[in-house]
Amino acid sequence: MDLLNTLVDKGLRRETPTRAEALAVLATGDDDLLDVVAAAGKVRRHWFGRRVKLNYLVNLKSGLCPEDCSYCSQRLGSKAEVLTYTWLKPEQAAAAAEAGVAGGAKRVCLVASGRGPTGRDVERVADTIAAIKDRDADVEICVCLGLLSDGQAARLREAGAHAYNHNLNTAEAVYGDICTTHGFADRVDTVQRARAEGLSACSGLIAGMGETDQDLVDVVFALRELDVDSVPVNFLIPFQGTPMADEWALTPQRCLRILAMVRFVCPDIEVRIAGGREIHLRTLQPLALHIANAIFLGDYLTSEGQAGKADLDMIADAGFEVEERGAATLPEHRRDAVAAAGGALERDGDGGRQEAAGSARADLVAVRRRGAGTDLPPNA
Ligand code: SF4
Repeated sequence: MDLLNTLVDKGLRRETPTRAEALAVLATGDDDLLDVVAAAGKVRRHWFGRRVKLNYLVNLKSGLCPEDCSYCSQRLGSKAEVLTYTWLKPEQAAAAAEAGVAGGAKRVCLVASGRGPTGRDVERVADTIAAIKDRDADVEICVCLGLLSDGQAARLREAGAHAYNHNLNTAEAVYGDICTTHGFADRVDTVQRARAEGLSACSGLIAGMGETDQDLVDVVFALRELDVDSVPVNFLIPFQGTPMADEWALTPQRCLRILAMVRFVCPDIEVRIAGGREIHLRTLQPLALHIANAIFLGDYLTSEGQAGKADLDMIADAGFEVEERGAATLPEHRRDAVAAAGGALERDGDGGRQEAAGSARADLVAVRRRGAGTDLPPNA
């Protein structure tokens, strides 16, 4: 297919495709699906080999958020029966992080619900980073605390954070449809603040919220424009008790096309399959590894993923390898860019509305009942 040849050539040259080309990927049919995966796989292997980077989530503070993001089980007024707890103590968080690292994770993502941190919250997280680094000085730490205000990114950087995550989630034009308590520009501002302070910027999207193909392409181009280093691609987990409980429009094939589009637009950027992997890709998860170069190991913030051992088996069975500690994730030209911004990462070598086509699989959504904030061991 000419389209795919063009996209591979552009991906190998780090050239951005046109919006029309990105839209055309989303419009391909199921007969072309394996060709799309194979083409995206060529770009993935060129920049990332067969390595799969494992990231591990630690939910530092769960539920009871004052914001109203419709997709979120922790939102204002959520009836989802998720775990709710206030800040984990640094040692509790460090123990959870240690389990993820022991399971093979290279990066730990420290996440807290809320609009954004207070100064005291940032200090708590600084203490948590110190506790994690006491146990393991080399673990990469990404922090995700919501909207940042003056000085907070610098403080987190100084405390030893490598990266900051704040997702754009969806296109600017429809952001008001998913959240009314903050806007797209607020999110862009936080990504820029993190980046300006030398934190590696991690920002992604959520697919399956009723967006159009154009919306998906718009948000991915916005991420490319922000020059982020990693893009988590979430597939909506339609939690019972949230406004999006009935949004089951995704199919495994659609998820692969979305990942491929992201790969072509962001050829040399870490593309991570994030929440919703198991429930939407289902048995096609291994094919997605040919496109994305990172996943989350184990559980998500408020829902359970497949067993960490199953993640590792899947990677091995599909012919990929877990990215090792000493290996660089990003290609050299991107590592140089992060270092120039003052970052610490990688220095050591590391159209129309989508018609509902999926079927409701609420049976696959399991609220998290183990790990951080519980007395049960984490899944790693
Ligand atoms: S700000 Fe974060 S935790 Fe709060 S509702 Fe939005 S996504 Fe959920």
